[in-house]
Amino acid sequence: MIQVKNLVKRYGDQKAVDNLSFTIEKGQIYGFLGPNGAGKSTTMNIMTGYLAATEGEVLIDGHNILEEPEEAKRHIGYLPEIPPVYMDMTVGEYLRFVAELKKIPKAEREKQIDDIMELVKITDMEHRLIKNLSKGYRQRVGLAQAVIGYPDIIILDEPTVGLDPKQIIEIRELIKTLGKNHTIILSSHILSEVSAVCDYIMIISHGKLIASDTPENLSEMMVGSNTLELTVKGERGTIVSEFASIPGMDAINYVDSEEDGCTDVTIQTPKNVDLREEIFYKMAGKNCPILKMHFTTISLEDVFLELTQNPDLLEQKDEEAAENRDDVAADEKSEVE
Ligand code: ADP
Ligand code: MG
Repeated sequence: MIQVKNLVKRYGDQKAVDNLSFTIEKGQIYGFLGPNGAGKSTTMNIMTGYLAATEGEVLIDGHNILEEPEEAKRHIGYLPEIPPVYMDMTVGEYLRFVAELKKIPKAEREKQIDDIMELVKITDMEHRLIKNLSKGYRQRVGLAQAVIGYPDIIILDEPTVGLDPKQIIEIRELIKTLGKNHTIILSSHILSEVSAVCDYIMIISHGKLIASDTPENLSEMMVGSNTLELTVKGERGTIVSEFASIPGMDAINYVDSEEDGCTDVTIQTPKNVDLREEIFYKMAGKNCPILKMHFTTISLEDVFLELTQNPDLLEQKDEEAAENRDDVAADEKSEVE
């Protein structure tokens, strides 16, 4: 649906976009995730034909965005970082103006505008001047203009920035609704936003794509270990020997607890190892009650911070993954033989 190939955008000697390549398939919600200055807006402006790339190309449904802009742009609706709304128009006037620009046939215009106003819930605002709308409603008008013409792909640059929490939830819901009938690409510097809405995340840092996968796989890939924190009451010797009989731990550490007669135990286990039940029964069997048990696994937030601060980590992870694949391939081969 969209192919981005070796995109580079230079401003002087700075590369805002640095050899970016990816493919967007139909029917998913994609998230561009990256800190401010990562190159998200620049990439989106190039993909939508608002900005020329220094190198590389963008194909929309096979059409080069620069060589066949009309064909390519027909497939795209775009809400840039600053919504292109005219403050002195009413909502209705503005949407009619956009429909005309997008060459929506006259006979279809009114129905389409009514339907889209209904969809983004601005029907009551039709006769209001845009300058008198709240930021949340202005953003809905921005969304409406992107949806006019029902393009296959809707690109939204930081669609919830500057909105209050209630408006953010409403816009997210709206994006999910739009995602049922359109391919959506949205950008955000907030991880929770992207993981709440998107099926697929592309992490961008310093103009480079440093990771792209489903939210689940991204956290899975980076999960090194689980941590289990416990406070156990009882004699230290008993506790230590009992834990020593449980296999599957990477590391264990004991310290005196703030609670009288208790030991704080911290355990690291490999991913996919969960010893909680076994520990519960063992300690119960020795009359050593567990007063606290807390299980943590690395969150996607940690992954994002780690990746954007230390992109080399990903290469290491990739190499590990490649080695694992080689192992599997070798195993499969030996089975065949
Ligand atoms: P994001 O949207 O991820 O915050 P941008 O795409 O806006 O990032 O910017 C990427 C980098 O390119 C930043 O370092 C920014 O300062 C730089 N940049 C963006 N636009 C221009 C411009 N018109 N002239 C010079 N530098 C720019
Ligand atoms: Mg931006």
